[in-house]
Amino acid sequence: MPKHLISVRDLSKEDIDLLRHLSKRFRGGERETLEGDVALFFLESSTRTRLSFEKACRLLGLRTYYAGRGESSIEKGESLRDTIKTLQALGFRALVLRVPFVLFPYEGYKGEEISLINAGDGTHQHPTQGLIDLFTAIEVFGSLENLKVLYIGDILHSRVFRSGAYLFGLYGAKVGVCGPKTLIPSDLSPFGVEQVFDSVDEAIEWADLCIWLRLQEERFTESYIPSKESYFLQFGLTKERYKRLKGYFMHPGPVNLYVDVDAEVVYLDKSLVLKQVEMGLYVRMAVLYWALKDG
Ligand code: ASP
Repeated sequence: MPKHLISVRDLSKEDIDLLRHLSKRFRGGERETLEGDVALFFLESSTRTRLSFEKACRLLGLRTYYAGRGESSIEKGESLRDTIKTLQALGFRALVLRVPFVLFPYEGYKGEEISLINAGDGTHQHPTQGLIDLFTAIEVFGSLENLKVLYIGDILHSRVFRSGAYLFGLYGAKVGVCGPKTLIPSDLSPFGVEQVFDSVDEAIEWADLCIWLRLQEERFTESYIPSKESYFLQFGLTKERYKRLKGYFMHPGPVNLYVDVDAEVVYLDKSLVLKQVEMGLYVRMAVLYWALKDG
């Protein structure tokens, strides 16, 4: 049976360690070959996730078939179950899926013969981004035991936070959040958050690793901030705050310059942004290989 990756909560620590080991091997130039066809359905725009999944498939010898926005019958109201059945009948081995809605509950899909890999679903999960951030942090800091990891910005709509906070917690890190009150979930208990900060200046004094997030405006149902200018001054990574960072910062991308981060600091020494992008290719190769190798 192929494996699925819909939520990081379904991964055991052994699975995660194996995925890290595989991504290190692929990064070191080792190659494995798989056969078959992979469908990539991206109903939301994406640069990094889409191209790294596509490239990862090709490096593993898998053929890719892409459907973007307006190019699948999901947008004609076809259910996900029927889409999966259709792709299975066409002989696809995996479906990599990015959708604006939440894939939940998903237990029913797990019995299917086609491997389902979540490339970001609504505000729910972005498992490969969570793994990228975890593995990049392990590479930079070594042990994550008691490391203080801070998510800043639009926590409410962030699937990156929902996947990453869980994984960091599993590896012994302490997780904090900071953002406008309107963009912090009212109940943070499912995410293992230990600290909530109103002031980003206090928060960055606490944190060893800061993860800035984009305002997910495509999911806004009302106006959550007075203006982008005031948001940047209050919560953004300004040049002045960059100087005061104790450790490093990440951003899953895309960065909105002068909303989340000042353009002059985005690729400076304390930035792990491009390391995350590079890690993305190997994490996605590892996930595809792990999901399909015994299928
Ligand atoms: N690329 C990430 C995601 O798809 C973060 C973002 O879009 O802001 O969730």
